[in-house]
Amino acid sequence: MTDYMKLGDEYLLHTYNRYPIVLERGEGVWLYDDKGNKYLDAAAGIAVYALGYADKEFNDALKAQIDKVMHTSNLYYNEPCCIAAKEVCEVSHMDRVFFTNSGTEAIEGAIKTARKYAYLKDGHTDHNIIAMEHSFHGRSMGALSVTGNAHYREAFEPGIGNVRFASFNNLKSVEDLVDEKTCAVIMETVQGEGGIYPAEESFIKGVRKLCDDKGILLILDEIQCGMGRTGYMFAWEKYGVKPDIVTIAKALGNGVPVGAFAMKGHVADNSLVPGDHGTTYGGNPFACAAVSEVLRQFRERDLVSHVRKLTPVLEAALEELKSSHPMIKDRRGAGFMQALELDGPCAPLIEKARENGLLVISAGTNILRIVPPLIIQEADIDTFKTRLDKALGEA
Ligand SMILES: *Cc1c(COP(=O)(O)O)cnc(C)c1O
Repeated sequence: MTDYMKLGDEYLLHTYNRYPIVLERGEGVWLYDDKGNKYLDAAAGIAVYALGYADKEFNDALKAQIDKVMHTSNLYYNEPCCIAAKEVCEVSHMDRVFFTNSGTEAIEGAIKTARKYAYLKDGHTDHNIIAMEHSFHGRSMGALSVTGNAHYREAFEPGIGNVRFASFNNLKSVEDLVDEKTCAVIMETVQGEGGIYPAEESFIKGVRKLCDDKGILLILDEIQCGMGRTGYMFAWEKYGVKPDIVTIAKALGNGVPVGAFAMKGHVADNSLVPGDHGTTYGGNPFACAAVSEVLRQFRERDLVSHVRKLTPVLEAALEELKSSHPMIKDRRGAGFMQALELDGPCAPLIEKARENGLLVISAGTNILRIVPPLIIQEADIDTFKTRLDKALGEA
């Protein structure tokens, strides 16, 4: 039998510390490795596989599109792209969308949109962007430049420049950084990689008002927290605020690499024009068939209500674990985007969980992140609790 771990270690660039299993296939909320071990998956490929693995209707929709055409380029119109565009705008209450191949590229597009918008207003190119400490927006030079974790940026400086970091959930820190050259505030509605921190209502409302007062664009990165994960199609709905630009990815394609940035009409009408931005693959028929099928299932299965209904079950399970294991210092999160903060590194716990047939991931050294497929059922949450309980006892 081929040793895939050895093969990968020899030929793949060493940019990931991978867990020592080789995943082969999935079904629903379960993943199987090449030795036949079965894992309950509370990671969902990092908040991606909303519909679960091997969903027949999803796979059939992809297969049907493969047999028609997968790629045409954006030199022409294609059916799935036009349909998916309307659907994404409808669910996000935005007016125009651009499809990308990843979340990072959606961030790049949002940054370019904001800069162009400001450039068209005053004819200058000296605008700044306010981002948040502990944020994560991606690894390309632009997305990295607005990512709050200095450790990720250090070796790759200088970034795009003119980026200022405020502290999340501290309105005053944003107000202090704003000046007449601020073109955008970018933030995650619920910080993901930074440790699962939801925005406080007064903060996000305050930022929205500040942006409105000063003519600054608000970019909400909902790449991780959007698409139903928090019990709202988009996490901002809970607060009754709306961004000017939103970035979406992860669950948008349920495993097919696709992202999007969408915006209000006034932004679209005063920013990017033909020649300003483009991508070869972005919005191709294959990716957009995935988007449409994902959104169709969101409607048909009412996944947002499902998340909302089961959130108390998941939260109760986590609270119970917290009260019986002193190593858990805090539980926080929104919907199916939950965190257990531990009193030390969570690597040993993640390993014990895996040995007990449970996949969980971290968000920072000592924060355990729980982001299961959105289709997870009550019985699965019970299994999750039993397995994590055992792992906590062993760790
Ligand atoms: C994952 C993530 C990104 C980057 O998306 P990729 O698809 O990995 O490029 C950006 N922002 C947030 C909030 C994310 O969770």
